[in-house]
Amino acid sequence: MNFDVIICFEVHAELDTKTKLFCKCSTNSDAPPNTNVCPVCTGQPGALPVLNRMAVEHCVRAGLSLNCTIANHAGFARKNYFYPDLPKGYQISQFEFPFCTDGFLEIMDDNGKEYKVGIKRVHLEEDAGKLLHASGSLKTSTYSLVDFNRAGVPLIEIVADHTRNPIRSLTEARLYLEKIRQILRYIGVSKCRMEKGELRCDANISLRQKGSKEFGNRVEMKNMASFKLVLEALSYEIKRQSGKLRAGETIIQETRLYDEASKVTVPMRSKENAPDYRYFPEPDLVDIDLDRGYIEKLTNETPELPEQKANRIIKDYGIPAGDAVILTKEKGVSDYFLSCVPICSDTSRASKWIIKELFKLLNASSIPIEKCPVTPERFSMLINLLSNGDITDIIGRTVLEEMFHDETEPLDIIKKKGLEPIENKDELKKTVDTVLLQNRGAVSQIRQGNTKSISYLIGQVMKKTNGRANPKETRDLIDEAIRG
Ligand code: ZN
Ligand code: MN
Repeated sequence: MNFDVIICFEVHAELDTKTKLFCKCSTNSDAPPNTNVCPVCTGQPGALPVLNRMAVEHCVRAGLSLNCTIANHAGFARKNYFYPDLPKGYQISQFEFPFCTDGFLEIMDDNGKEYKVGIKRVHLEEDAGKLLHASGSLKTSTYSLVDFNRAGVPLIEIVADHTRNPIRSLTEARLYLEKIRQILRYIGVSKCRMEKGELRCDANISLRQKGSKEFGNRVEMKNMASFKLVLEALSYEIKRQSGKLRAGETIIQETRLYDEASKVTVPMRSKENAPDYRYFPEPDLVDIDLDRGYIEKLTNETPELPEQKANRIIKDYGIPAGDAVILTKEKGVSDYFLSCVPICSDTSRASKWIIKELFKLLNASSIPIEKCPVTPERFSMLINLLSNGDITDIIGRTVLEEMFHDETEPLDIIKKKGLEPIENKDELKKTVDTVLLQNRGAVSQIRQGNTKSISYLIGQVMKKTNGRANPKETRDLIDEAIRG
């Protein structure tokens, strides 16, 4: 028996706003517990919510980037449930009238074809607080602590559509999540730092016999904090569900928990005791009409998305497609590259050096490119020295490394470190002669027509001069000495 897999995600992303969704409290997540609180976000009787305009803008922007229709008329609803981190006893969310509906996200499918994953809706809602269990596990401690700093922080929830172009494999699932994160970061609506819980993911998965039109029973897994865990859990579920279906058993519609340690999912609650949220329109907030002009303004302001930018970089600067994709993966990187472009004589060299050399240094010291100690101006100066042939790649690497730790211009470093190229031809000739004497084997190989050994000899000269020799002059001198 073969099965089709259908995966559906609900992604929650914390919006990057200064204040909470319905009050003026700060959203700073590093503040001491319960210091960013007020009567509104702790649900005191009589306190009234006031909607954060920036959060609405962010939600609409997200919807636009996910190709959604933006509603002219939207409104909020109460989602009622009890939990100790939810001070009001309900969450203000959107139900019947979300801001954004019927979108799609383009990914590459398993056959390398473009595939538009259906997105049902993007809506705005508030986050809950956080529970801290005193000794790590409720079983052993007698109490838990609650921090309401996060209560009322704005979230968008992006709901994929399981009926319209659903995600059908683990690869598609990974691409979908990565792309959502990339886009939200790009357009500046969320930082999406998963380690800080700014991006969380609920996953639904069902299997059905290949070709069947009917959906199988869905299993839901909630609040997963990393893509790795999501994919592990889904992979386990595919195995578990197909095993059961092959054995003629039915899949129970339920919520399951993924246990990281044993790498299995375990039942949490079944459909029968699923909560009934008793949604109703939020009486403390008026409905919102978004006029055409407002939507148009936000549409025009939507920044270039990664793919568009990659295409522009390929077309305008002749950068190979693979490199353009790397340069546009994160907005910070493409911003860096694009600031080098107008002052750099060789954009393709700049791109290569960002990807090969700058990334190495950034990764080694875990610095994001936004905080790169080498400014695009100085980086471009270095690229210009390289492309003029003023310095060799080896020197270039040393200079870049120095610039990374000692924030000065490349020429200053070259002077300070004595890295200037050897101008004196006699001095270079002396080194070449020494190298030839020490490598008689290679010399005779060249005489027999093995030209590969020339590169070896050039390399030896570079080593002796710490890269200060001009490669072309060195080659000429070696040629002369051997032929002459
Ligand atoms: Zn507040
Ligand atoms: Mn939600």
